[in-house]
Amino acid sequence: MIDLEVPRKFRPLVGQAHQVAENVLRPISRKYDTAEHERPVELDMLASLIDGMNESGELGGTGAAGVRRSANGAAAEGNRNGSNLSTVLSVIEMCWGDVGLLLSIPGQGLGNSAIASVADDEQLERYGGRWAAMAITEPEAGSDSAAIRTTAVLEGDEYVLNGEKIYVTAGERAELVVVWASLDRSQGRAAIKSFVVERSNPGMILERLEHKLGIRASDTAAFRLENCRIPKDALLGSPDIDSRKSFAGAMQTFDNTRPLVAAMAVGVTRAALEHTRAKLAEAGVVIDPRKSAWTQSAAAARLQQLEADYEAARLLTLQAAWMADNGKPNSLQASMAKAKAGRTGVDVALGCIELCGATGYGEDELLEKWARDAKILDIFEGTQQIQLLIVARQLLGKTSAELR
Ligand SMILES: Cc1cc2nc3c(=O)[nH]c(=O)nc-3n(C[C@H](O)[C@H](O)[C@H](O)COP(=O)(O)OP(=O)(O)OC[C@H]3O[C@@H](n4cnc5c(N)ncnc54)[C@H](O)[C@@H]3O)c2cc1C
Repeated sequence: MIDLEVPRKFRPLVGQAHQVAENVLRPISRKYDTAEHERPVELDMLASLIDGMNESGELGGTGAAGVRRSANGAAAEGNRNGSNLSTVLSVIEMCWGDVGLLLSIPGQGLGNSAIASVADDEQLERYGGRWAAMAITEPEAGSDSAAIRTTAVLEGDEYVLNGEKIYVTAGERAELVVVWASLDRSQGRAAIKSFVVERSNPGMILERLEHKLGIRASDTAAFRLENCRIPKDALLGSPDIDSRKSFAGAMQTFDNTRPLVAAMAVGVTRAALEHTRAKLAEAGVVIDPRKSAWTQSAAAARLQQLEADYEAARLLTLQAAWMADNGKPNSLQASMAKAKAGRTGVDVALGCIELCGATGYGEDELLEKWARDAKILDIFEGTQQIQLLIVARQLLGKTSAELR
């Protein structure tokens, strides 16, 4: 089997992330699955620890906040394993522990990644170290993010935001929310920009928290933006409406965040596979990678098939992150990784339940929970179908207007 070794310099990071996943996240995994909407206070200490390690340079990027490209996007000289790869590796380990809890660690929001991707140096300084959620989705705009209706109107030194945002991960607990809004709806997608809003802003009104199938440890909020005033310099990137660049700038965030969500799926997938392999071993099933599918038990052959899918998802994810570290355009690979890993997570978790039978379905074990958690990773940051659409557009050289 083709495999990649973890780069030597990242091995301590991966080891530490695994320790955290095993000793901090797994023990409270079921607790916060049951106690939905309760804040996992155990994670506050962990967040301080991660901050400290990031500041001391001990970690090369542990969560979503670690991702940033070089300013000019130019290819680095030689082969660089940087913060995208280290972040993906640590996210895989942490999600082997618990994906909902990873999303609940203060400071590790998808909004942090957006800030890291598009903020200028002064904004990075201003918002650095604070927990940021990401609010794109609206009641009338999910997959088609260009259809958002939230508006941002410049009045003096302030933008005034009005609209509705739903399904905001960490929207209740984060300190900041990166909100997508249009400067001028008549100019279409080019006028869409992202704005950093303080969660305490009185114009950002929390409407409700969702009850969910999975990742129940993570809060998912719906907001109303009502004459929400924010300083002019809270707009990320350039305020100019440039039909060639503007939306591309906002979309660039996805090139960094999709490999992260793929990494989450890879982590959950590995958890399910390891658990199932152990259960099969307990039941006396011999799994021999040198034997072909028809010369060993059906259970062993099925597990190997699931493991092969896992490897493919993992390699695509590492490739997308490595390309970002090396200044290579990775939209295609980021979408391929997200599509493959999202689908694999769901298929493998359900396949493992099948192999484990009744024990896989019960709440005494975590397998049924991983199957519920996995589904969201095939939905947010662009659904399975949308990733496939993006891949098709890129391969066929079609625009979003030509292939929709
Ligand atoms: C738990 C949770 C957390 C979330 N967190 C966030 C967050 O932090 N920030 C945020 O902004 N959003 C978040 N979302 C929203 C998420 O990104 C959207 O749900 C997702 O983009 C899909 O949008 P939709 O639900 O409106 O589905 P729709 O866009 O209505 O799609 C419905 C179905 O149609 C398919 N479909 C749509 N268009 C096409 C097409 N052109 N071709 C083929 N199939 C298509 C989709 O794949 C899907 O299967 C979250 C959602 C959930 C459930």
